[in-house]
Amino acid sequence: MKYDHILVRIGELALKGKNRKVFERALASNINVVLKGYDIKVHSTFGRIMIELNDSREDDIIEKLKNVFGIHSFSLALKAENELEEIQKGALIALTDSRNQPVRTFKVTAKRPNKNFPIGSQELNHLVGGYILKNTENITVDVHNPDVEVRVEVREKATYITCGNISGAGGLPVGTGGKVMLMLSGGIDSPVAGYLTMKRGVRINAIHFHSPPYTNERAKQKVKDLVKILTKYCGTIQLHLVPFTEMQTTIHEKVPSDYAMTIMRRMMLRISEKIANKQNALAITTGESLGQVASQTLHSMNTINEVTNLPILRPLVTMDKLEVIEVARNIGTYETSILPFEDCCTIFLPSNSKTRPRKELAHKFEANFDFVSLVEKAVTETEIVTIRHQAKKEESVDKLF
Ligand code: ATP
Ligand code: MG
Repeated sequence: MKYDHILVRIGELALKGKNRKVFERALASNINVVLKGYDIKVHSTFGRIMIELNDSREDDIIEKLKNVFGIHSFSLALKAENELEEIQKGALIALTDSRNQPVRTFKVTAKRPNKNFPIGSQELNHLVGGYILKNTENITVDVHNPDVEVRVEVREKATYITCGNISGAGGLPVGTGGKVMLMLSGGIDSPVAGYLTMKRGVRINAIHFHSPPYTNERAKQKVKDLVKILTKYCGTIQLHLVPFTEMQTTIHEKVPSDYAMTIMRRMMLRISEKIANKQNALAITTGESLGQVASQTLHSMNTINEVTNLPILRPLVTMDKLEVIEVARNIGTYETSILPFEDCCTIFLPSNSKTRPRKELAHKFEANFDFVSLVEKAVTETEIVTIRHQAKKEESVDKLF
């Protein structure tokens, strides 16, 4: 016997009543996607997901599982037959495995969801603990603060023994909460906003506005790289690349410079909303944080938000920049985000943006040009790229609409 499984404990899912089965299935499927290519089997049993390792590289698998939302915690597990002697032997092997060393104290915690098993959990604690004490040296029992807790779960078909616990990512399985369009700029904030949105079970489609030739291929590649990093939390993300040059040059010509940013954001939202509707996305996520820059004051948000009825999710709204940076580092997007490629906003935008733009004036300046057809054109010419966690190459769909 040896550690040959991973036992996955499900987080908030357990609270979800009737939906639990749906959530368990989604989680099992997300685990399968993230572990594609490994010789493993994923089983869903009441309140737990078991991964059969079949000699796959467990260290890699453990690292990948840490990114899967909906997992509360997980442990390497050893499977034993539902017989006392086998359970005792298994527990001894699990405890004395080199991963758990050094062990000076332990306790056994047995659970018996399978009530057909003839030994109760209290008695099993003693029988397994006694066996370990008899077969080891210099190890004692400490029920209050043990070095290792040997957990024994007697289930329907087999018993699983674990020592130790690895924290999962928490949250809810991606895909159980609908879909949003994530406005992804290439900066530090929006990838973090995407990560936090996925954490709540929501699938993201990314949308990026670029302005060739003012923005170059490397800026576009940077956004693809960011999406690729985010796929480790969900498997696959569709990236929508919106050509924004004509809109921006028109705004530059037709709108006073202190309103250019406001109008540009309103156009971005209009386009995002149209693409969201075509993709059945129920909301738009941005990386805005209250008061961070001129476009992110409450007055600005209010004037910009006016153009859409879709909910706008702003997971970073109350966070300080330093807090955002910390998450960006932890999720692996920071180093890519700080690469110095120009974004479409930085190139065209003046430094005198209004911090309190007024709706009436926004309407007035928008009447200076035919924005409806420019919005339509940008939507029609949007290029869609599907980026997968496992694949080396992306897949391009040139025309979707
Ligand atoms: P970020 O770090 O995400 O770039 P930021 O602090 O630079 O954010 P802004 O430039 O004001 O802030 O952008 C606010 C939000 O608008 C971004 O977080 C993003 O959601 C969206 N956004 C900005 N530029 C683009 C773009 N070129 N394509 C798509 N979305 C964008
Ligand atoms: Mg930015």
